[in-house]
Amino acid sequence: MSDSVLEAPARPAFANYVGGNWQPANSGRTYDKHNPARPSELVGEFPASGEDDVNAAVEAAAAAFPGWSRLPAAARGAVLARAADAVETRVEEIASDMTREMGKPLREARLEAGRVAAIFRFFASEAWRPKGEQYEQLATGSSLYTLRRPLGVVGLITPWNFPAAIPAWKSAPALIYGNTVVLKLAQEAPLTGLHLAACLDEAGIPAGVLNVVIGRGAEVGTPLVRHPKVVAISFTGSVAVGRQVREEATERGKRVQLELGGHNPLIVMADADMTRAVEAAYAGAFWSAGQKCTATRRIYVQAPVYDQFRERLLDRIGHGKVGDPADPETEVGPIVNETQLNAILDAIEKGKHEGGKLLSGGARLDDDGYLVAPTLFENVADDAMLSCEEVFGPVTSLYRFETIDEAIERANAVQFGLSASIFTTSLEPTDRFVNEMEAGLLHVNSQTAGADVHVPFGGIKGSGYGPHEQGRAALEFYTEVVTVYQDV
Ligand code: NAD
Repeated sequence: MSDSVLEAPARPAFANYVGGNWQPANSGRTYDKHNPARPSELVGEFPASGEDDVNAAVEAAAAAFPGWSRLPAAARGAVLARAADAVETRVEEIASDMTREMGKPLREARLEAGRVAAIFRFFASEAWRPKGEQYEQLATGSSLYTLRRPLGVVGLITPWNFPAAIPAWKSAPALIYGNTVVLKLAQEAPLTGLHLAACLDEAGIPAGVLNVVIGRGAEVGTPLVRHPKVVAISFTGSVAVGRQVREEATERGKRVQLELGGHNPLIVMADADMTRAVEAAYAGAFWSAGQKCTATRRIYVQAPVYDQFRERLLDRIGHGKVGDPADPETEVGPIVNETQLNAILDAIEKGKHEGGKLLSGGARLDDDGYLVAPTLFENVADDAMLSCEEVFGPVTSLYRFETIDEAIERANAVQFGLSASIFTTSLEPTDRFVNEMEAGLLHVNSQTAGADVHVPFGGIKGSGYGPHEQGRAALEFYTEVVTVYQDV
């Protein structure tokens, strides 16, 4: 650990980070980012980058690739380890900037900022782990082995809702395995990602190895996906954009990985610990105002405990703290922007129109900040919009079921397959759930959201495409396998 990273770190410039320099967009254009809790408050003026900026970033990454990929993995790991130290010295600053720019309640923003250090540390340690397999040749017994080599310049496109964790869990594996990176941060949350770049800069990452470009999807994301020197794209975001990115990337022969939306069910069996189940339903559906890909969108409750569960969840909603995300007690903060706010309010109206019964919430709470009251529906038809489409806000629905067969069948009846939970104290429904539930992340007696850094993360069905992220699973996407027949 170098002493320098323990000094008070500088704020990141509100600029792109290209070839080791903080610089404005080539065009000089900028856009203003406002605080969703107090929309009149300006968070900062950020570069509205375009194709020129992407081209410069890709060229810098391509030039840096030979040197970076040939460094010993331990040297690359040392950069990530120092960056983890730098992140830890500024967790509070990163968290409060995250809260200001995208409205995540401070208590969750702190956890996310701290998690970046854990992600960097986990991937720093990849330097010491095996990456190939050793065999013998059939005819001679001579050496035969596999190598995992870096791909080259990779393009990373990230959403605003986990503005620290997702840029970290894409860039750290890309870097440790020897790739160089062009990271396109979400326009709604650039400042948090810039902190990560600043930490890597302080940690001594060589110029051009990591490049960060800020701007709109069509102006930065599209040229990045199309650039001939970008060999792989890792994307997290919405289904519609993800499909477009996959088409653009695959038709150019690029490797592509998508992490998309979810419609995550929570199943409550009659024998469940009701207190824990209610708490998990509340947290899963409403923390971060439901703006998580893994948020709980449907809650299936077994008939004998349905009424009791509904009352207890309504009581919990009544006691939940909704409001200023900068208050460390706040559980439910604002929606990220006015467009998303209106989309959520429209979806609530549509839910009512389609016959859903509103049990709580359903309206905006504040004339200034973009707050929506935690919203609970029941009597929503299985084929209604609320049961099938991702409404990216604090909106969830209750469904009554009789048997585990019925619960699993209905819970699986969506295009998504990201995360799912069951609450039960019995092994039989647990066994059915872990074997039959169509989701990449399964929770038994814990909420649908939340992910450890050292294990695979990702969805199946319409929620994902390509290898999973995080943990050792990341090796699959960020390296290519070659087989070496080595005779003496
Ligand atoms: P989004 O799809 O609007 O944007 C994601 C990123 O893609 C942004 O950086 C955006 O600027 C960029 N982009 C937009 N148009 C593009 C284009 N044409 N070409 C290339 N890039 C383009 O998503 P969002 O609103 O930022 O994030 C919310 C969505 O992300 C939700 O659907 C949520 O479920 C999903 N999400 C999924 C995961 C997961 O791991 N499965 C995690 C977090 C969020």
